[in-house]
Amino acid sequence: MQLMLDMDGVITDWVRAAHRIHGREHLLEDGYPYLRGKYNWYRDDPRWADMTLEYFWAAMGEGFWENVVEWDPSGKLRLSQAEAFFGKENICIVTGPPPCIQTSTAITGSVRGKWKWIAREMPDYTNRVIFTHEKQWLATPDRTLWDDSPNQVKKFKEAGGNVVLIKQPWNFVEM
Ligand SMILES: [Mg+2]
Repeated sequence: MQLMLDMDGVITDWVRAAHRIHGREHLLEDGYPYLRGKYNWYRDDPRWADMTLEYFWAAMGEGFWENVVEWDPSGKLRLSQAEAFFGKENICIVTGPPPCIQTSTAITGSVRGKWKWIAREMPDYTNRVIFTHEKQWLATPDRTLWDDSPNQVKKFKEAGGNVVLIKQPWNFVEM
């Protein structure tokens, strides 16, 4: 069994970094401030209505992905659990460039920055990274996707893969 391991929201704390780069880290001071289970808080929450999606994503260049993004609080634990279960040699990082700004600058910035982050923080994985949003293309019956995106999980499962939705406040409502 091989693991296709998402980066943002699973290994890294992209949500906090996105708030930091836009000077809104205070929103997270008292815990998660948005409606739980709503994945696209930056599109849906009125506190972000003053910012266009283009502006939101344009702030995230190479330096953001390399240096502002930090480990998710549970990221190292998830990675060690994944390595214990699947074996390091069976794990591949699968991550996408920003979905909104499909310019070469934004894409090369995110790819270069993310790769540098991996080289620094997870050097064993520098040769096992796939950059794509179309994660379902990698789905097979002997592959599992760990991802925090309900949409990615749904598409991967429909394409014949196994999935685990990594629970986060933006994809899960506590009953
Ligand atoms: Mg993710």
